[in-house]
Amino acid sequence: MNVLHFTAECYPIAKVGGLADVVGSLPKYQNKLGVESSVIMPFYDNVFTKQHSFKTIFESSIHLGDAIIDFKILSLTENDLGFDIFFVDVPELLFKDYVYSYDDTDRFLAFQIAALDWVAQLEHKPTIVHCHDHHTGLVPFMMYYAHKYHMLNKIPTVLTIHNAQYQGWFSHDKISLIPAFDMEHIGVLDWDNSVNPLAAAIKCAWRVTTVSPSYMEELKRNANGLESLLSHETAKCSGILNGIDSHVWNPETDAYLIKTFSRKSIVSGRKANKKWLCDEFNLDINKPLFAFIGRLVGEKGADLFPQIFDISLQKNDISILLLGSGHDDIEQGLEDLKSKHKGAYNAYIGYDEKLSHIIYAGADFLLMPSRVEPCGLNQLYALRYGTIPIVHNIGGLKDTVIDISEKGFGFVHHEASVEQVCHAIERATNFYQNQPTFKKMRTLIMQIDHSWDASAQAYIHLYNTLN
Ligand code: ADP
Repeated sequence: MNVLHFTAECYPIAKVGGLADVVGSLPKYQNKLGVESSVIMPFYDNVFTKQHSFKTIFESSIHLGDAIIDFKILSLTENDLGFDIFFVDVPELLFKDYVYSYDDTDRFLAFQIAALDWVAQLEHKPTIVHCHDHHTGLVPFMMYYAHKYHMLNKIPTVLTIHNAQYQGWFSHDKISLIPAFDMEHIGVLDWDNSVNPLAAAIKCAWRVTTVSPSYMEELKRNANGLESLLSHETAKCSGILNGIDSHVWNPETDAYLIKTFSRKSIVSGRKANKKWLCDEFNLDINKPLFAFIGRLVGEKGADLFPQIFDISLQKNDISILLLGSGHDDIEQGLEDLKSKHKGAYNAYIGYDEKLSHIIYAGADFLLMPSRVEPCGLNQLYALRYGTIPIVHNIGGLKDTVIDISEKGFGFVHHEASVEQVCHAIERATNFYQNQPTFKKMRTLIMQIDHSWDASAQAYIHLYNTLN
């Protein structure tokens, strides 16, 4: 078996969120399990591409409407990622210092067409094509219906939905950019009067997965317009929980940490990381430290934070630290709060990989009041580093965190509301007061196994049903 993953993000090359972490680790574990697995993604203008060298393995050009655009397929000169990776280099469209922006339709269409042109001429073609999210959602449609890819139309395709909120909609005017296909199939591209790449992929892929079982069930009731489609296609749908790359996310070896630690050295290790955070952000090391890491958007419940933080800081003797970026008004609300709660609250508005690792290693509790959470990786990283999660009972959070009152190891609330999150923070603050129990719990959660081993095997099992 030979699997090719199509993706817009892949850690450590380009990361916006969890998609990158998954595609940067799943192929590695699949290779370890004996399934040849590689990745194809756009070639961006970023730190990784500046710091590495590449060789050209294929050159050609694509038609995008009337335009003829040259492209290259590149591979890494030296590759220690644990899987082969190929890059589609379309200088005028893809080589930008961002992954997503206003011009995604043309960019990701060019990516998908160029990638398929390359695959179409390969002597050893993939035996499974695995697409991730809407940016690669037209791949199955083109493989099955575009005349020029007729040699690919027997290859099974799998779609993994990491986030169904974003679907890549574009207007019918742009259909002419897609390589020629019989017009009788045009309806496959359409959902609610626009071209919908995610819907097209759900219709065309042989199997559809989500990144947790609960998220798949939730999508049948709430999928930003795709509920009936997912219910209709339910026979080919399943949820496979994400794993974490336990080599990258390992507190014993993590080079980003101020001090690495194992279960045996957890007390001194976590103290050193917490001290650094408290010094850096002017917080009191003796108070329980609550943190949030992530995109500042409604999906993550981040709009609730200014109110949650204000109330919780008045009621409890705690510290709060936030790392994230997103909507301007949420960022502003979080900035405004700094002066009111100086010494107890701070926020770094931006993206910082190193800081995120130190927070997982130094905070006492991690907040995740998400309204939608397909899997959520942050709670899994937190557990591995001994930080207790406080989560809304939804999607992957529901599948991975059990409340302390039910012999579990986290704090679970049943609504993404200011009241319920504040109540959960209060429960956690009380739990922190009993230091022996609190410390025992930290050590216990570090042992929970969320590595990719089981989930990578579940994907392989699914591929086996298709070949
Ligand atoms: P998403 O919906 O954003 O993909 P996930 O929980 O699946 O959410 O994955 C989020 C990933 O992005 C985690 O690795 C998290 O640590 C990282 N992350 C999110 N925001 C930031 C940030 N501002 N700085 C550093 N890392 C971040």
